[in-house]
Amino acid sequence: MLRVMRKLITRRGTEHSLPLFLPVYQPQSPIVPLSVWGELQSVEGCILNAFFLYKNREIRKLFGNGLTLREYIKFDGLVMTDSGAFQALTGPLLLSNKAIVTFQEMIKTDIASPLDLISPPGENRTTAEQKLIVTLKRVREALDLTPGCILAGVQQGGRFPDLRRRSLEGLMEIGIEYLAIGSLVPFFNKNHDLKFVGAVLREARRIAGPQMPIHVYGAGDPVELPFLVALGADIFDSSSYAHYAKERWYMTPYGALRDPGPLMTGEYTCRCPACQAQVPGWEIMDDLPSLAWHNMWTIFETIRLIREALAAHRLDELLKDIIEVHQRWFPESLLPASWSTLHE
Ligand SMILES: [Zn+2]
Repeated sequence: MLRVMRKLITRRGTEHSLPLFLPVYQPQSPIVPLSVWGELQSVEGCILNAFFLYKNREIRKLFGNGLTLREYIKFDGLVMTDSGAFQALTGPLLLSNKAIVTFQEMIKTDIASPLDLISPPGENRTTAEQKLIVTLKRVREALDLTPGCILAGVQQGGRFPDLRRRSLEGLMEIGIEYLAIGSLVPFFNKNHDLKFVGAVLREARRIAGPQMPIHVYGAGDPVELPFLVALGADIFDSSSYAHYAKERWYMTPYGALRDPGPLMTGEYTCRCPACQAQVPGWEIMDDLPSLAWHNMWTIFETIRLIREALAAHRLDELLKDIIEVHQRWFPESLLPASWSTLHE
């Protein structure tokens, strides 16, 4: 499978090899404090919810006085911000696109997000169409308000391939330089079914051309990332490391485990410092911060393996290896079958 090596260059001039994973960081309630992230040499960036910062009057005042986001979280890597679009699914935000985008520009984020309108899978065509039209207008408005950062052009269109295409063509017309696929993962990949996700990503890559960075919002299961990369995606963000830990899921590159089978048989050994410190390794399940840290380590290890495979033109071999083990551990998973339909 042909795959071009891409880079992301920020307005500050920092360069990042792709693929790239941006863990969600919540400064007010971090499960894994940022200070501990430093032990993971590979953390190049993170994503924060700009809406949470904006709605806190005290924090907003600090930013109004000139504090930057990187200074606030004491992190010098790449910072991306989300807009609160996800929170809008559960209730009215009383927030305008202009206000949240201007705020992101002010706090000097590297990549800003417009206040797009999310279309969950059950949504009907008329609503999905309206949402994509409004999202396009907001992207256009946001582009003029963000000279200092990269703006994510967000694709919507729900479960309708023609609406997805229309959304993307509209974004290309506006002149975006960074594409973010909205309402896709985790909405459309239940039980690792990559069929719809794969079709959307393939078409997105075809229309966006070989150089445009493509971000998939909310993708953070290590077993899926190499497949999403093969389909054309480059950048992922998620808080999966924390919420998998809260639900006692132990991530591996072959799928997340609830029971220690493959660890006990010696089929899988995690090399992360948290697991190495706890032989035989399953005690970690009772230690939420360590489990979250292990999960984060596993995601970054996966990104490292993908980059290595890409550089050696061996991505197909990596995918084959993952499918072989995944199928054995999770016979019910739809990943192998859905992946093979994408090959036809
Ligand atoms: Zn581990």
